[in-house]
Amino acid sequence: MPRTKEGHQYDNTGVHKGLKTDAVVSSTLNTKNSYDVIVIGSGFCGLVAARNLALDRNLRVLLLEARDRIGGRTWTAKAWGEEFEMGGTYVHWYPVPCLLKVTG
Ligand SMILES: Cc1cc2nc3c(=O)[nH]c(=O)nc-3n(C[C@H](O)[C@H](O)[C@H](O)COP(=O)(O)OP(=O)(O)OC[C@H]3O[C@@H](n4cnc5c(N)ncnc54)[C@H](O)[C@@H]3O)c2cc1C
Repeated sequence: MPRTKEGHQYDNTGVHKGLKTDAVVSSTLNTKNSYDVIVIGSGFCGLVAARNLALDRNLRVLLLEARDRIGGRTWTAKAWGEEFEMGGTYVHWYPVPCLLKVTG
């Protein structure tokens, strides 16, 4: 299981830096000579923008990320056999006005 440098885990042996997560992915080895679009940041916005530009518009997209993992503020860590959402908690398909109508 890959481990990001972010976060700490406490157990009976002490404090360990870094958390296990599937969000650590390898960089693409064969980069192209040129791209149509460069997306900076692989948070939700960057990932969706890069996906849509590549798949829907068939553009050559380079996605650059400063961290050692994708996801930005929305990512899942794994510890003690459990999954922990470290950012986004409520993911849904309803636009806000619809959600307000349901709950209000
Ligand atoms: C504790 C917590 C709980 C939350 N709960 C919810 C929730 O329940 N529901 C909800 O809808 N939202 C929630 N949010 C908010 C949600 O996580 C964010 O709004 C969303 O993830 C932001 O996505 P983003 O792509 O705009 O930005 P980010 O996730 O911040 O992504 C930006 C990315 O760009 C990278 N980057 C920045 N500068 C550079 C650079 N110069 N070069 C390369 N890379 C760079 C960063 O490393 C990062 O990966 C929560 C956030 C937190 C922290």
